[in-house]
Amino acid sequence: MRREFTSNVSHELKTPLTSISGISEIMMNGIVKPEDVAGFAENIHNEAGRLINLVNDIIKLSQLDENSIPLEKEAVDLLLVAKEVKTRLRHVIARSGVEFKLIGESTVVEGIAPILSEMIYNLCDNAIKYNKKNGLVELRVGTKDGKPFVSVKDTGIGIPREAQSRVFERFYRVDKSHSREIGGTGLGLSIVKHAAAYHGAELFLESKLNEGTTVEIVFKG
Ligand code: ADP
Repeated sequence: MRREFTSNVSHELKTPLTSISGISEIMMNGIVKPEDVAGFAENIHNEAGRLINLVNDIIKLSQLDENSIPLEKEAVDLLLVAKEVKTRLRHVIARSGVEFKLIGESTVVEGIAPILSEMIYNLCDNAIKYNKKNGLVELRVGTKDGKPFVSVKDTGIGIPREAQSRVFERFYRVDKSHSREIGGTGLGLSIVKHAAAYHGAELFLESKLNEGTTVEIVFKG
């Protein structure tokens, strides 16, 4: 698994680096018209952004993997974390045109706030990214059968049945051809999976193609 991961990482790093190298070479050779320089620089900037996101996600995954989180668990209110995630995503929400509802009540778990935030962020980010025009995202926080939960429901494109068990794998993407324009690293859900395990929480995914997806994190009661 480690060998496959290394080979995937190398590939994912190589693609943006090859673009950066190619574009900057053309600029260096002076063949770019002055009016096109800004556009080329923007491409370099975007590719560098992809690299930064990828390296950040790899660092988060390896910290979770090696149990080397430099923070202690403490009482964290999931509703406060969810509110903070909604605020962080406000520009993405506005640009996407989806409606984003946060529903719930104060719910406290023992956990690590930045990791819980990362999990909720990744799920909401996907729910917006893989949604449809005028779609809806519902982020819920509460307690069910004595167990604290967070769920993220969308009215998006859904995940084909055969892919549902694979989306938590590193670098697995349903639609590889569009993943570049949609963005993302392919590591979001594997971070969610490891982070859930770190908190002793269970993950549930329910999805119907063309109708939508719900992912639920259920903590121990
Ligand atoms: P990515 O960076 O590609 O979004 P993730 O690990 O977060 O990586 O997700 C893996 C894949 O699972 C995505 O590429 C997408 O194909 C699929 N996926 C994740 N969340 C959703 C969702 N809410 N609706 C539809 N497909 C999803």
